[in-house]
Amino acid sequence: MKGGCYCGALRYEITGRPVFKAQCHCRACQSFAGGAANVFMAVPAQGFAYDTGEPKSYRKPGEDTVATREFCSCCGTQVASRRDGLDLVMVKVGTLDEPAAYKGPKAAIYVAEKQSFHFIPEDLPSFEGFPPV
Ligand SMILES: [Zn+2]
Ligand SMILES: [Zn+2]
Repeated sequence: MKGGCYCGALRYEITGRPVFKAQCHCRACQSFAGGAANVFMAVPAQGFAYDTGEPKSYRKPGEDTVATREFCSCCGTQVASRRDGLDLVMVKVGTLDEPAAYKGPKAAIYVAEKQSFHFIPEDLPSFEGFPPV
């Protein structure tokens, strides 16, 4: 699978198989996703590579920060994030060239922080925070 940011300055290729697909309702993802949940898939770090451009990365200062977010320095699109202690890259599904190939999330996470207007399909397993890995 291939994808990239909105302007095209940052492009990536995924060669690894997704190990986890979910929608995240955490407060930080609400900021990045525009208000709804952030739909993502986790792929092994060695199966993800940028082939055009270099991302800027941002890590919010603070002891409770667990994620580093990678985005295009030109158009600002966040394409991926990495979580401490996991050898995975969380790819934002909206940045795929063909988002339909994603098919759908398998879990809803951080539902403790969800808004009343967020949608979670009835048959989707939900987790208050990050699921056990
Ligand atoms: Zn861009
Ligand atoms: Zn989140």
